[in-house]
Amino acid sequence: MKPEERIIQLTQELIDHNRRYYIEDNPIISDYEFDRLMKELSLLEQSYPSLADPNSPTKRVGGGVTKDFMSKSHRFPMYSLDNSYSLEDVKEWINRIKKRLSQENKDEVFELSFCCELKYDGASVSITYKNGELIEAITRGDGTQGDDITTNVRTIKTVPLKLKPPFPKDFDIRGEVILSRSAFDELNQKRQLKGFPVFMNPRNTASGSLKLQDSSEVSKRNLDCFLYGIVSDNQIYHSQYELLQKTRSMGFFVPDHSALCHSVEEIESFIQYWDKKRRSLNYEIDGIVIKVDRVDLQKELGFTAKSPRWAIAFKFQAEEVTTELNSVVFQVGRTGAITPVANLTPVLLGGTIVKRASLHNADQIDKLDLYFGDTVTVEKGGEIIPKITGVKKEMRKRNSIKVSFTKECPECGSTLERPEGEAAYYCSNHLRCAPQVIGRIQHFASRKAMDIDGIGDETIAQLVNEGLIRDVADLYQLEYHRLISLDRMADTSVNNLLEGVEKSKSKPFEKVLFGLGIRMVGETVAKKLVKSFPTIDALFSANLEALSEIPDIGLKIAESIVSFRNDKANITLIERLREFGLQMEKVIEESVQVNSVFTNKKVVVSGVFSSFSRDELKSKLEGLGAIIQSSISSKTDLVIAGENMGPSKLQKAESLGIRMLSESEFLEML
Ligand code: AMP
Ligand code: ZN
Repeated sequence: MKPEERIIQLTQELIDHNRRYYIEDNPIISDYEFDRLMKELSLLEQSYPSLADPNSPTKRVGGGVTKDFMSKSHRFPMYSLDNSYSLEDVKEWINRIKKRLSQENKDEVFELSFCCELKYDGASVSITYKNGELIEAITRGDGTQGDDITTNVRTIKTVPLKLKPPFPKDFDIRGEVILSRSAFDELNQKRQLKGFPVFMNPRNTASGSLKLQDSSEVSKRNLDCFLYGIVSDNQIYHSQYELLQKTRSMGFFVPDHSALCHSVEEIESFIQYWDKKRRSLNYEIDGIVIKVDRVDLQKELGFTAKSPRWAIAFKFQAEEVTTELNSVVFQVGRTGAITPVANLTPVLLGGTIVKRASLHNADQIDKLDLYFGDTVTVEKGGEIIPKITGVKKEMRKRNSIKVSFTKECPECGSTLERPEGEAAYYCSNHLRCAPQVIGRIQHFASRKAMDIDGIGDETIAQLVNEGLIRDVADLYQLEYHRLISLDRMADTSVNNLLEGVEKSKSKPFEKVLFGLGIRMVGETVAKKLVKSFPTIDALFSANLEALSEIPDIGLKIAESIVSFRNDKANITLIERLREFGLQMEKVIEESVQVNSVFTNKKVVVSGVFSSFSRDELKSKLEGLGAIIQSSISSKTDLVIAGENMGPSKLQKAESLGIRMLSESEFLEML
């Protein structure tokens, strides 16, 4: 087959598979197979650039860079929608259009039906298709002209680049570009890992993403586009509801929550249903849109200067209220980060009473230009903690005092520091600042880290406040007689606590590493680090370069690890934990195990050997089912001692009563 034929064939196949996957949710080939076809097409396009199609499926991954977004006129203006906030408004609107229609058609009696749709909260876009090909995509702009964002829109997987026949020859679609909640969360998680500031809400992130210069970045954002309308010179469909159903088969993504309603009562129940249910959707909606279903009647009703007469938006109660700012307190987290929190006059918001709101950081306070006593707007986004979104400056009382960020740690009075490139201030007194000490130990004991049974957050705070523990290693030195003398500590709880602590010694290395609470080393990062550096010694002797070369570990995380290990106090802490028998290396699970006297025995190899190198010896032992440890602890079962074993190790093995084998004894056993 000639290259040009193969390109056409692959393009068509990939477009079909794309549609099956993203639109119809019914793939017929594996991801692997899909990638293989994509690769083949991409290679062909590189070899024959003149044959490359601007709507090739390979354009999904982006690559094109837009320096300035050109302004372009809309072929058909993009209107906005009139808003309504109550059912009364909706009833009035229906009466208005009935009247208007009956004036023009004196004798006809109208059975009006309405297409009710969700009002997706994103950024609207107009996309032109000619002969089944995507030609251009333009933002709404001022409704008459917008910005050409074609390159970026091509990367959106729910935008078809070529249509599946049959399709009208020439038309524009109207769609909403959104970022799903899951894609938003995922994006923010990734940004957090890299130490970038997180985005505030999906809507702004979606519209911001459309204006990124690098389209491959847009591709990674995983935007979606929901179709809600079609405009063209010719009338293509008879009804809006029909339009929504039929555009799917061309390859457009149309959410299937629309309903055809025949009465005010039906519209009302649609509204009520979605007002309750909207939080269960994977994307945000801010209301519903009610449209006269019949297209001929839409034509008769026409448009005002701003919006169609045949449609109206019903906006849900914005989850935003106003209240008063009473005070600001500063909280210290386990990392020492200082978070400002606003105390508000209690107010009902989204079904719960809100008394506090997060202010994020110093920059946020500056941006809001906040004064004590201000009337503020509070919004409940996806997050649990509401946030202050604005200030009613016109309502500010005279002589109010400006809110400023604290200059010192509210808990210990130490000075604050702000690492370069970060938004947060930190208390510099890492070792002694109580909430940091307590927070670190709580984190260490938490379920996702060491999962220590029998010791809750409150107990940890109590133990720190009573002076029994100051760091995580102190947990392993707790004694029964001290604990039992504390308030609220009975025999069973003390025993449970001690037992939980003891059990935690066998928790795998990655949990220990996560539990240490190194900044930016979360659960996933810890796992990735352990994969590349299976022992703490290896990890802490790696340099910045080696660390940042680990997949998904950026420079920021690498720097954080280096600064942690450069702190002597941390090294001492780790040495103590090691002495107590915590896992400081990954236990290699043997898949093929030979049963031998060494099976599941924890073995330390030390000194020099004449028959093999140390590494050879270790792999021999592993082959026999032994678990190799890098240093001696109370968990060690056996030490294979070569020549010149270090005196301190020797002493330690002896004092712990660990069995030792010389090289010749070992060979004999084999
Ligand atoms: P507004 O921005 O409040 O004037 O509302 C109009 C906007 O709502 C349109 O420009 C669309 O971007 C958006 N929208 C979201 N969902 C729909 C829908 N189902 N039908 C029409 N417009 C919608
Ligand atoms: Zn402090």
